[in-house]
Amino acid sequence: MQVPASFEYRRAESVADALALLQRFGEEARVIAGGHSLLPMMKLRLARPEFLIDINDLHELDYLRLEGGELRIGALTRHRGLLESELVGRHFPIFHDAERVIADPPVRNRGTIGGSLCQADPAEDLAAVCAALRAIAVVLGRGGRRAVPMEEFYRGPYETAVGAGEMLVEVRVPIRANAGSAYRKVERKAGDWAVAAAGAALALDDGGRIGWAGIGLAAVGTSMVGYRRAEQALLGREPSEPAFAEAGRIAAEDCDPLTDTRGTEAYKRHLAGELTRRALTRAAERAAAAAGEDG
Ligand SMILES: Cc1cc2nc3c(=O)[nH]c(=O)nc-3n(C[C@H](O)[C@H](O)[C@H](O)COP(=O)(O)OP(=O)(O)OC[C@H]3O[C@@H](n4cnc5c(N)ncnc54)[C@H](O)[C@@H]3O)c2cc1C
Repeated sequence: MQVPASFEYRRAESVADALALLQRFGEEARVIAGGHSLLPMMKLRLARPEFLIDINDLHELDYLRLEGGELRIGALTRHRGLLESELVGRHFPIFHDAERVIADPPVRNRGTIGGSLCQADPAEDLAAVCAALRAIAVVLGRGGRRAVPMEEFYRGPYETAVGAGEMLVEVRVPIRANAGSAYRKVERKAGDWAVAAAGAALALDDGGRIGWAGIGLAAVGTSMVGYRRAEQALLGREPSEPAFAEAGRIAAEDCDPLTDTRGTEAYKRHLAGELTRRALTRAAERAAAAAGEDG
């Protein structure tokens, strides 16, 4: 039987209370949200926090709203909330594409965006989505709030910019005009983690060319961010299959997959390129539709 090492459990009553507990117990404390990643790690003794700070009563961290030209997502927003939100689907269909293929309903009912990003598993789908969208993580600590771009949020597998005594409270996604986004994933069976996956976001300029591009990949390297070369190759071009195929080829070159039980390095690299191409193609269709509506 797998059982975690012993720990003390505290249920935070407010964000201020959670923060005070985190600061009191320092390195030995961990936040628990949905528990779908942390509890398995504790049972395997890969994580041994001495204090668990439960944030599930902090309903003030469970929200989706538009503010300041951004979609603001509270850290305790569940996968299910993202999947069922019309607001999210209207502005960022990439979230719906991804949520449909994350795990199964029991996991989606409990798992949170905060937990997904803070877990920093290189196969985490929402992390690739947030990388493609250039989301900003809002981290709360002793000195107040600080905004951390996704490129800086990831410090490596299972490591983020959230330090001891801090917590992630919000994810902000900038809304761009004439924009579209999409996510494509290959999994071995329904509900499984990705063999490989790609998220893409595009914004068209007034002439219908690609004015901005974001790409994030899951399960093909230690980081979901850092596909700048592929993004740059798209800028100023007509949205077209040759452009998307080239970006896919560059993303495949720049990723860093490992052979494991889900597939060989070569297969995953091939998937990275093909899924990037497909995600870009769908994102461009959605951007063209948005441009039609906006214009
Ligand atoms: C069977 C199964 C299948 C799955 N399949 C997939 C899949 O296909 N794709 C996918 O992307 N994910 C998958 N997951 C993971 C799932 O999405 C989890 O919900 C997610 O990884 C973690 O969210 P959580 O809220 O459960 O986090 P928790 O397990 O509660 O926490 C995870 C980590 O984040 C920290 N943390 C949580 N919230 C905060 C916060 N606000 N501030 C600071 N630190 C915080 C915790 O301390 C912990 O270190 C799967 C999980 C399971 C059990």
